[in-house]
Amino acid sequence: MEDTNCIFCKIIRGELPALKVYENDTLIAFLDIQPVNKGHTLIIPKKHYRNLYNLPDEILGKIGILMRDLAIAIKKAVGAEGINIEMNNESLAGQLVDHAHIHIIPRFLNDGLRHWPGKELPSDEMKKTREVIVSLIKKNT
Ligand code: AMP
Ligand code: ZN
Repeated sequence: MEDTNCIFCKIIRGELPALKVYENDTLIAFLDIQPVNKGHTLIIPKKHYRNLYNLPDEILGKIGILMRDLAIAIKKAVGAEGINIEMNNESLAGQLVDHAHIHIIPRFLNDGLRHWPGKELPSDEMKKTREVIVSLIKKNT
């Protein structure tokens, strides 16, 4: 469903400018307007999907391939020494634009970005969590 107020749909319709780096029938990719680092790029499906949860297999497959190819091109273009791929899903996880998008973020030595910290959880809880995930993924695939 296309969202008339969605800023990414507006970019797709040409109503808002964007520095596009790639476009095909299904996807476009453009530079993030507030880049974390030089070359920070977003990949979005042309059809409006809110986030990862409802993306169809076919689109996800195409995103995966473009993600790899763009990561390699961007890394070379900006002389990055690494690439982070990120996707925020739902506002609690930091999703500000409700049109599914993947961040490709080039990394440089001493760029000030930090990985999120890990924590230790009780092993009982870890095992229970594992069991629930295993049971649910079987139901859905
Ligand atoms: P998220 O927090 O994952 O929803 O990220 C949304 C991203 O979209 C942010 O990194 C913004 O800088 C970026 N963004 C918002 N508006 C535009 C725009 N008009 N053109 C390019 N990037 C945008
Ligand atoms: Zn949209």
